[in-house]
Amino acid sequence: MPEPSGRPKTIPFLEKVDADLTEVVRLKGCSYCAEGKLHRADYKRKPRGVPSWPDEPKRFSLCCNQEGCRRRHTPPSVRFLGRRVYGGVVALLIPAMMHGLKPERVVQIRKVLDLKIDRRTLERWRQWWLGLFVESTFWKEARARFMPPLCPKTLPLSLCLSFALEDRRDRLLELLRFLSPITTPAAWQELVM
Ligand SMILES: [Zn+2]
Repeated sequence: MPEPSGRPKTIPFLEKVDADLTEVVRLKGCSYCAEGKLHRADYKRKPRGVPSWPDEPKRFSLCCNQEGCRRRHTPPSVRFLGRRVYGGVVALLIPAMMHGLKPERVVQIRKVLDLKIDRRTLERWRQWWLGLFVESTFWKEARARFMPPLCPKTLPLSLCLSFALEDRRDRLLELLRFLSPITTPAAWQELVM
């Protein structure tokens, strides 16, 4: 059933996941000083390449409360993919669909995928998966977990299939969690397009 605002249902759900990931970081306290406690200091980010995103979503973020430190901690996210802030779901699934992931099997996220995204953006995403992502430290370490090894030439489809995304839609969350370490600013530096 469509919601009054037309807001895709997936987004509030992913927001909750991001809130959980944020809480994990918050409970650890400041990683720069010993006694700092972290409090929420979210900021708004408009996802690029996602024209019909209902309103600017907040990237959850944390700040140390100690005078003289006040360092920002940006937790991993399943909604954002890096500094350029594409919707993580969209940047993952649309290129995968172009490679042949069956969209009708990904029922839960169909609304999010019902977006007008131009060819150039799609091509950029594809190049990103095949280039910077494949070369990243994250992937070089993470790919060892996959047996048989994933085909790097059909990313992100090969990744989606290995998470059995076509059979079980709840695996999408697992896949986004798997990718979430690359969404923190430090990790993203080597992944900037
Ligand atoms: Zn601190």
